[in-house]
Amino acid sequence: MGDVKDFASPVRPTWCPGCGNFGIWNALKRALAELDLAPHQVMIVGGIGCGSKLPDYTHANGYMSLHGRTVPVASGMRLAHHEMVVICTHGDGDAYAEGLGHMLHCARRNLHIVDIVQDNRIYGLTKGQYSPTTEQGRVTSTSPHGSLELPVNPLALALAAGATFVARSWSGDVPHLTQVIVQAVQHRGYALIDVLQPCVTFNRPYSYDFYRPRVYNVNADPTYDPTDRIAAFRKACEWGERIPIGILYQVEDRPTYEEQEAVLAAGPLVRQPLRTWTEADYEALRQEYM
Ligand code: SF4
Repeated sequence: MGDVKDFASPVRPTWCPGCGNFGIWNALKRALAELDLAPHQVMIVGGIGCGSKLPDYTHANGYMSLHGRTVPVASGMRLAHHEMVVICTHGDGDAYAEGLGHMLHCARRNLHIVDIVQDNRIYGLTKGQYSPTTEQGRVTSTSPHGSLELPVNPLALALAAGATFVARSWSGDVPHLTQVIVQAVQHRGYALIDVLQPCVTFNRPYSYDFYRPRVYNVNADPTYDPTDRIAAFRKACEWGERIPIGILYQVEDRPTYEEQEAVLAAGPLVRQPLRTWTEADYEALRQEYM
């Protein structure tokens, strides 16, 4: 087991005191240490948002991309160096609004990326506008008469897109989230972890006190079969007085995109020699287009 301190950065978080992102940050560092990874073996990609600042606060390779473009940037990194553990950390706006198409296509490609979504059901960084997971009827600064839109169901969407690992955890249970992240990193293929994350400043109804009595671990039930996709859909649709967390679905019956890409069979692109083009190569290309 590695040392959590290996992933400590001198940069201190600017998150509000009590923000659920602290639990996610701690769980991620604990998981990486438990997996005995070194910081140089890990790439953490954020987008734009409170949660997307996590790469700044973690000692590992890190990159903050454009809003909603976290997954495509991570996909490029994974294809360039598929021996690197690539982890996305971004919020529900970044992942399920601007980035939703990217998430669905990454799921069906089954690229081995761990996609941690810090789902606080609001746009926190920009001070409380309704987001894709905000409930219908909610009054926010951009929905003064109540949100007219149905919230998206990210777990059901990921299942429909063909994701091979679909999980939910919450930031009030760091040990549980740590274990889900460990299993997501060990999984072969795209892994979505939707993390219920209290935003204590701009989304007070969804507080720690709201989630604590409602969440229950589906994996604590020995009769629950996480390879049953229909059962996972049912759990994904459950929300209210009881909210399921845990690994709702996991199968390893599909190869990853990286395993199927012939060019990567010779090893990570970063270790392959650059092809040097000769005059004859350019001439052949020119003739092809003439
Ligand atoms: Fe966390 Fe909300 Fe503060 Fe952002 S605004 S740091 S999500 S509590």
